[in-house]
Amino acid sequence: MNLSDINTINSLLKKAGFSFKKSLGQNFLIDSSVCPAMAEASCDKTCGVLEIGPGIGVLTKELSKAAKRVVAIELDERLKKILPITLADCDNVEIIYGDALKLDLKTIITEHFSDCEKVCVCANLPYYVTSPIVMSLLESRLPISSITVMVQKEAAERLCAEVGSRDAGAVTVAVSYYAKKEILFYVDRTSFMPAPNVDSAVIKLDILEKPPIMVKDEEKFFKLTKACFAQRRKTLVNTVSNTLKIDKQTLKNALNEVGLSETVRGEQLTLEQLASLSEYI
Ligand code: SAM
Repeated sequence: MNLSDINTINSLLKKAGFSFKKSLGQNFLIDSSVCPAMAEASCDKTCGVLEIGPGIGVLTKELSKAAKRVVAIELDERLKKILPITLADCDNVEIIYGDALKLDLKTIITEHFSDCEKVCVCANLPYYVTSPIVMSLLESRLPISSITVMVQKEAAERLCAEVGSRDAGAVTVAVSYYAKKEILFYVDRTSFMPAPNVDSAVIKLDILEKPPIMVKDEEKFFKLTKACFAQRRKTLVNTVSNTLKIDKQTLKNALNEVGLSETVRGEQLTLEQLASLSEYI
């Protein structure tokens, strides 16, 4: 069954009485070259793969061929009528119905992938939860070695930007703290059914064994980072004093201590400078 073929998909969906839910970010891939490329970039036969949002299983099928075992988490229970048909010949795949943001992923990984050399995440993520899912995968320090995901093009460029560049945001700092990041390739909006209003990109985050900088208090570091990007046009002193209720003179003193100008904007700081500053505040 060719799951990238529009006629096949339409007939499957019609038989199951399935209609797309925009609120669940349901844009299914119809470009037959994308899923094999994602699977190849993500895993090999020694890997367990955790997929989020299999839809009708077009990427799941490729992951099943490329990996040792696949566990796919799908929120939409209406797909129970379709996935057993489309994945009938994939005996190394298990589907778990639930919300990827609420399920205990650590336990799922431990229970399903104990015989795999490493565990990878691979997904065409629903746009409405891209950042929460990526951040929860990184922050919960799951025993995974990489995350290969399709996200909205602008989100990809933000997630993979250089810290200190104009494209960077608080999420860029967090991603750079946990992973080595790369945009693998771009995917046009016409590769999906229904076509979204935006283009996409596939990114790969290789999880670092330890962060590239020494941070004594992570909570303080990430609080400062969020505050730095809260009002991007303002100086760091103004935005951080407003957001974290810290006296302006204390912030100016801290900036002097780390050799930064009192008029610097938060988005201009490097990872190292953010780490040093968080120690002086
Ligand atoms: N993998 C399929 C593909 O590439 O064609 C479908 C991708 S579609 C962009 C996103 C999928 O994620 C949908 O099947 C949707 O139902 C599912 N989904 C949305 N929110 C979810 C959540 N919180 N947890 C798990 N799955 C979710």
